[in-house]
Amino acid sequence: MSLLAARGASRIYRNGPAGRGGATALDQVSLDIAPGECVALLGRSGCGKSTLARLLAGLERPDAGEVRFAGRSLSTFGRADWRAFRCAVQLVFQDPVSAVNPRETVGQIIAEPLRHLRGLTGVAATGQIQALLRAVDLPADAMGRLPQQLSGGQLQRVCIARALAAQPQLLILDEAVSNLDLHLQIQMLDLFARLKRDRDVSYLFITHDLRLAERFCDRVLVMCDGRLVEETRVGGAFALT
Ligand code: ADP
Ligand code: ADP
Repeated sequence: MSLLAARGASRIYRNGPAGRGGATALDQVSLDIAPGECVALLGRSGCGKSTLARLLAGLERPDAGEVRFAGRSLSTFGRADWRAFRCAVQLVFQDPVSAVNPRETVGQIIAEPLRHLRGLTGVAATGQIQALLRAVDLPADAMGRLPQQLSGGQLQRVCIARALAAQPQLLILDEAVSNLDLHLQIQMLDLFARLKRDRDVSYLFITHDLRLAERFCDRVLVMCDGRLVEETRVGGAFALT
């Protein structure tokens, strides 16, 4: 059973660089991600990886084809379905600065999915925020800080904590660990491995790091010019380091 799937998904940006007919950012992409599976997505810059990530996360609609969650097309979703989907599938963007409201504190940023997706407020929310900050190796007093008071790597970890706050079944990471220091990368991968093992969380890792892909993922997909061109099974080496 696949958790999330794309079927012949295409995306054409009318205002795209190719002008005339628009640029085809995604060209009939099909893929399946199973529960607990870890998939790496590689490919040159501009080949369509982030576009695919946004489609899979339900942030943009395909111009043709569809995205399915637990067997149902997102295009049939009502309000309650979207809420369940937002809990289940979380995307961490490449650039943390544009992914947060600069006027919100770290605590407020992480509280948002807790409140809106899980209905947690007050002491229960605060306890979760503290646990999530610990999980991404940020100090408890980071809670009161504003994005501009954090380094890029710290803010990226706030975004990872915010995504984890939803308790997702699938985490899509768009170059979200690549910019962290090596020891923090290892720590984040350790956390992800634990969530995969204990809670069957799936991952789509968009990365340029072939070693990370081979070492931590069950499957490596390669994109080129909006198409999926290669798939390699690497044997599920995703394990605790
Ligand atoms: P990658 O993540 O692999 O670097 P992207 O998905 O960001 O690739 O981009 C794929 C193609 O789609 C590129 O040609 C890019 O310029 C174009 N593109 C992406 N987003 C937009 C957008 N919002 N408007 C117009 N063109 C876009
Ligand atoms: P804990 O610190 O509770 O022992 P972990 O270190 O394994 O747990 O996880 C860190 C955080 O990740 C927890 O606060 C938990 O809320 C959160 N989390 C992220 N994704 C999930 C998920 N799919 N299911 C449950 N918890 C999750």
